[in-house]
Formats: sequence, C-alpha cells, structure tokens
Amino acid sequence: MQRSVRMEDISDGRLYTCNDLVKADTRDCQGCSACCKGMGHSIVLDPLDIHRLITYLGNTTQELLNGNIELNVVDGIILPNLAMTGTEESCSFLNKEGRCSIHSVRPGICRLFPLGRFYENNGFQYFLQVHECPKERTKVKVKKWLDTPNIKAYEQYINQWHYFQKDLQQMLESESDDMRKKVSMYILQEFYFKPYNAEMEFYGEFEQRLNMAREVFFVS
Ligand code: SF4
Ligand code: SF4
Repeated sequence: MQRSVRMEDISDGRLYTCNDLVKADTRDCQGCSACCKGMGHSIVLDPLDIHRLITYLGNTTQELLNGNIELNVVDGIILPNLAMTGTEESCSFLNKEGRCSIHSVRPGICRLFPLGRFYENNGFQYFLQVHECPKERTKVKVKKWLDTPNIKAYEQYINQWHYFQKDLQQMLESESDDMRKKVSMYILQEFYFKPYNAEMEFYGEFEQRLNMAREVFFVS
C-alpha cells in the first residue's frame, strides 16, 4: 500500500539495509497487542503470506475468506488483507492471551512492524516508524527482526512483487473498471488462490507465475 507522507514526519530520518542495526526490537511485545487491533484494511497480504498461512493451517485461500482475511481495493487492484473482527476490531489470529496464534507464519507486515519499506530506484530500504509502537525498544539487526530465512531471496521477491504491482497500477490508470476487475481476478487466481507446489521452492514458482503475468499484461 503506497502512502503519501513525508519521511521526516514518520521516521528517524534514516534508511536501513537488512544488515543494519535499528531500534525496532519490542522484546516480545510483553502485554501489548496494539498493532493487532483496529488496523482497518492496512495489513495487506502478499502471495507468500497466503502460501505460508494455508500451508500451516492446512486450509485454502477460500476458507481464509471466512473471517481471517478479506478482499479490498488497494491502489486500484483487489488484494487480500487481514480482517479485523469483533467489537475490538482484532485480527482473528490474536488469541485470548493477546498473543499471535500463528506467530511462526505471521504475515510480512507483522514481521516488519514497526519498520516500513521505502521504495526508490527499483529497490527498497527499511525505515523506522517512530510514532507507531509505544514500547521502549532496543537495537536489533533488521534481518534478525524480520525472522525470515534466505533474506536475500525474500527481499528480491518483495521487490519483484512491489514493482509488478506498480506497473499494473500504472497500466490500469487509463483502463475501465471492467478491465481493472478482470486484471484483479487474474492476480487473485494466479498468485493467491492457485496453490503453490509444496515440493517446489516458493520463490521459483512465484517467479514463473510473475514472468507469465508480465507476458500477459506487458508483452504485446
Ligand atoms: S505496538 Fe509495538 S509492542 Fe505493541 S504489539 Fe505492536 S509491535 Fe508489539
Ligand atoms: S497475524 Fe498475528 S501479529 Fe499479525 S496482526 Fe494478526 S495477531 Fe497480530
């Protein structure tokens, strides 16, 4: 989700790579679950998030739509996000103890918080959102905070997915609502609903689907 804000208003003014130390470690959040509630549609899920969830829970994307996730328009394309439910508008994966019940497969945005990504020049770096998390935080290496194996492959995937969406959004600016809907249906089906082969490494299969989608939409 793209945001139009000034970096100096929301960050400490620095950009970080995955090897940098950043004051992001909330030390297990101890008693706080603030960013698991009232987040609206903002925890947008990428294809790896859904793949991890359905592999761990043993269900399908369609089944997740029964309360765990929902579909909304993000920058012109329909994408899934974590659903906030009940009177407290809590994530459905937040348990009674205020802990994440799917911690090992939590989505990328949950792993990232209170960091964000700043995209420029066909790449991205991380920044610290200084107003988003009330906890006293200590320094941690960005890649340790992300808790994601094979960080370079993950970052390449995040980058590919981001710039693909950006290209799609640009292409769709001059298209009809009907075309936007058709493109969104393709994206949902190919990247979110069609299961990834568990035997095959996710990133390789994702890249195949991405190359195919680029051919469909951008090669005339
Ligand atoms: S607001 Fe900060 S301390 Fe609270 S749950 Fe989120 S990351 Fe953890
Ligand atoms: S998936 Fe876990 S960490 Fe993310 S919002 Fe839900 S409960 Fe919180």
